[in-house]
Parts: sequence; structure tokens; C-alpha cells
Amino acid sequence: MNAPATLAQHDLLSKSERQAQVVRALQADLPPHALIWHAEDTTPYECDGLTAYRARPMAVALPETEAQVQAVLKTCHRLGVPVVARGAGTGLSGGAMPDAMGVTLSLAKFNKIVAIDPVGRTATVQCGVRNLAISEAAAPYGLYYAPDPSSQIACTIGGNVAENSGGVHCLKYGLTLHNVLRVRGFMADGEAVEFGGAALDAPGLDLLALVVGSEGMLAVTTEVLVKLVPKPQLARCIMASFDDVRKAGDAVAAVIAAGIIPAGLEMMDKPMTAAVEDFVRAGYDLSAAAILLCESDGTPEEVEEEIGRMSDVLRRCGATAIAVSESEDERLKFWSGRKNAFPASGRISPDYMCLDSTIPRKRLADILLAIQQMEVKYNLRCCNVFHAGDGNLHPLVLFDANDPDQLHRCELFGADILETSVAMGGTVSGEHGVGVEKLNSMCVQFTAAENEAMFGVKRAFDPEGMLNPGKVIPTLQRCAEYGKQVFRAGKTLPFDDLPRF
Ligand SMILES: Cc1cc2nc3c(=O)[nH]c(=O)nc-3n(C[C@H](O)[C@H](O)[C@H](O)COP(=O)(O)OP(=O)(O)OC[C@H]3O[C@@H](n4cnc5c(N)ncnc54)[C@H](O)[C@@H]3O)c2cc1C
Repeated sequence: MNAPATLAQHDLLSKSERQAQVVRALQADLPPHALIWHAEDTTPYECDGLTAYRARPMAVALPETEAQVQAVLKTCHRLGVPVVARGAGTGLSGGAMPDAMGVTLSLAKFNKIVAIDPVGRTATVQCGVRNLAISEAAAPYGLYYAPDPSSQIACTIGGNVAENSGGVHCLKYGLTLHNVLRVRGFMADGEAVEFGGAALDAPGLDLLALVVGSEGMLAVTTEVLVKLVPKPQLARCIMASFDDVRKAGDAVAAVIAAGIIPAGLEMMDKPMTAAVEDFVRAGYDLSAAAILLCESDGTPEEVEEEIGRMSDVLRRCGATAIAVSESEDERLKFWSGRKNAFPASGRISPDYMCLDSTIPRKRLADILLAIQQMEVKYNLRCCNVFHAGDGNLHPLVLFDANDPDQLHRCELFGADILETSVAMGGTVSGEHGVGVEKLNSMCVQFTAAENEAMFGVKRAFDPEGMLNPGKVIPTLQRCAEYGKQVFRAGKTLPFDDLPRF
């Protein structure tokens, strides 16, 4: 393993000299079209879906082969240059935001389906393959890839693995972690690695589980073996209206408590249905305080029985109207609203920040009511869409990033939601990752010892801290600063053990 260059050597170079040095070195690794570094070419890479935070990298490498990925990593490691892997850049927590003194490693050209095994029900795909493209390739065999982030038309399986992404169907079929068997890739120093295996269990420590959800901090993935599941014979969706968010929240808990695991169980509040309806006309009830979408899939007999049971529970919980999709077109129409919730919010506001905390299902109504009070406190609007079945919230705080005061209030609003979620027994992230967005809130979620344990894992994989540095795990110093800010603001948090360091 080559030792990385010392910090002192880097410090002697100006940023442009350093950039010239890095570009010269990478030119030896890559064909000319696979390396860009002029500002007009690298600007499109300066952020991910969290557009409020930006940085332009020194260079963007666009390798086409694993040998080129390895060479780029080796070169960057030798020169002590941070590397940020990038899929489609749809992440919502700033995970793929470049390092201004680093190289962005775009895996966009790794877009081949390597093999579909209909007998073993698996697909081997390169990391830049879009999530939906896996299901499209598996469709002729009656199979599909179950985790379905709403961004599935664009996001890559490499990004899904890094974020342990979820989606509407993950309540029944599991998250990315439960649907990936093996990943192949490279460590920070360019060493080739493979985690997991074709069988359900692999010998040794479960490093696959560590790498899934590690947000590009432990290794760069180049190839993934995923499970495929049979396409259900039938799927039908219930759209239920409620005149009170508490009744809707309680209905979610009641469905699960009745022993039903729906194929999807989503909730939207009134501001969200209004935004969505104006955009896609999904037929949502605009008079409702909240609507639920509850999906059942399986054989026609199973679906009929489950739809009946779910409808009974929803009625008992006070649903004011229940509509059940009568055709595949109608089912897709119901979901078109939910799937377009984020772009619909983008139509009614210059910017939005999508939060991603979790809470116990029984607290859904409590958090919605708390968010309504925060709208007044921070003088900003918020639309809410929830993967309600697994208690994963997506409040979308609307703001204008050109107004620094609005951005500041939006950040405070977001932190308040995350910290209130923790106080209610939840977590700061359900599926979008921590990235740069939730670093402060990690100080609230975890003790210093817990964060240090995560740094220990990071150091074991990447001793020099070259992969996606400065993200995901807060330093002790950062937590201390955050604790002081909280104290100075005279903020009263709804729990008594912060700061825990
Ligand atoms: C409209 C919209 C809807 C969304 N809906 C959902 C949803 O329902 N569920 C959900 O979970 N997310 C959702 N997201 C968030 C996002 O799409 C997911 O996090 C997705 O997995 C990111 O994939 P990507 O290819 O865009 O990754 P990027 O944004 O490019 O990167 C995300 C992270 O993965 C790392 N990374 C990317 N590729 C690799 C690789 N090959 N090796 C190592 N690290 C890598 C990056 O460094 C970064 O930390 C949504 C986003 C948008 C914009």
C-alpha cells in the first residue's frame, strides 16, 4: 500500500497548483474524455438533490472499467486527495456533494446489466444501473427488484446500496440491505474487495451489512448482486380519507396491529395532497385532513381478503371515504400522486428541504401536530408525506435559498423536526442518509462513544479518511460546538439528556 502524501506537501501548493498536479496524475489513468476539470464542466456536479449545499470538485473522473476505478483510487490515495463517489446525484442529504479539494468519482458509465438468473432469481448489475432498469430487465422472466425509491427512474443501485434506500414496497419486501446479496468494489487505496456472497449467509463477519448504508465512506461499489422476486399476480390499492390527522395516524398503527403487512402504506397531509393534485390529478380527496394509500398484492384471493380486512380497520378508525382501485390504470393513478410528491412541492416553492426522520407509528399524529406548530415558529410552510407503515417521515420544508434568512430558518426547522423525532423515540434518518445535512442531529441521536465506534469502523476500512470525508459521523468538536449553540439559543429540547458528550 502506498503511503499518502503528507499534509505539509499539500499545504505548500495553491489550489490551482494542486488541481494541476491531480489532473496531470489522473490523465495517466484515464482516456481524455473520462476526465473533466474546467469549472463549466464540473459545475453540474457541485451538489446532489440537497441543492442548498454546494462545492465544486478539483476534477471529475468518469471511468468506464474497474481497472480505471482502481487506478483513480490508487492515484488519489498516493496524492492524499479525497474521493467522493457519485451515482445519479439524486441523494437528498448532500452525500455526493463534492469535496472542494477532492475528486468526484462518477460511476455513471457503469450502466450494464451483467446477468439475470431467472432460476436463482438474482441479477448481477453494474453500480450505475438505474433502480428501475433492473426491474425492466427482469420483467420478461416475471420477476422484479422490490426496493422502489420514488427516484427509481434515475437513481443508481450503487447509490441505493450506499444509502440503504427504501421505498413504498419496502414495508413488505425489505430495504436495500435485505435485497442485496453481494457487492464488489474497491477500498480507498484501490484494493479490490467483495462482501457477501450468492448464498443467504456468508462466512466471517457481516461486512456486507456494514457497507450497505455506509454512504460512500468505506468502499466504492462497482458491481452488485441483487435478489429478484416474482411479480405478484395482482395488486390493488385503497385510498382512504380522514378528517383528522390523529385518526389517520392511529389507523396506520391499527392496520399493522391487526397483523396485516400491506405492500405499501403511505400517508399525505392536506397541503401535500393539494400540491400533488394540482400537478398530476391523481384523484385525491382535497377536503381530507390526511389520506392513506394502502396496497395489497398477491393472488387475487389473497388480495380480496386483505383489502376487505384493511377496509374494515380503516372504517373502524374513522375513514370518511374509501376508494379501492378497480384496474391497474387506476392503481397507478393513485400512486402517481405519491410518487410525484417531491416534484409537486418543487412547483409551489423555489426550494424545498426534504427531511427523513423516523418515529414509532403510534406517534405519527403527534409529530404532524408538532410540525404544524413549527410552521408558525419558523414562519415557513411544510408539506408532509410519510412512509407511514414504517414510521418514516418526509416533511418537505418550503423556502427560498436565495434568501439567507429563509435558509437559516429552514435549517432550524429541519433540526427541530429531527430532534423532536428522536425525543419521540425515533431516529434522524430513515432512508436518505446523514450526508452533511444531519451531522448536528447525529450529536443528538448518538453518544460520543457511539459516534467514536463509527469512526473506528471508518478507520478500519479507510485509515487515512480519503473516502467522502467530513460526512455522516460528527466529530466530538462539532458536537461540542452544536451543544454550545443549542445552549446559547436558550433552546429547550423536548428531552433532558442533550448534549450527551
Ligand atoms: C424525487 C426524489 C425522490 C426520492 N425518493 C426516495 C425514496 O423513496 N427512498 C429513498 O430511500 N430515497 C429517495 N430519494 C433519495 C435518493 O434518490 C436515494 O438516496 C438514492 O439511493 C441515491 O442514489 P444516487 O445514484 O442518486 O446516488 P448519489 O446521490 O449520487 O449518491 C448518494 C450517496 O451514495 C454514494 N455513492 C453513490 N454511488 C456509489 C458507489 N458506486 N459506491 C460507493 N458509494 C456510492 C455517494 O458518495 C453518496 O454518499 C429520492 C430523491 C429524489 C430526488
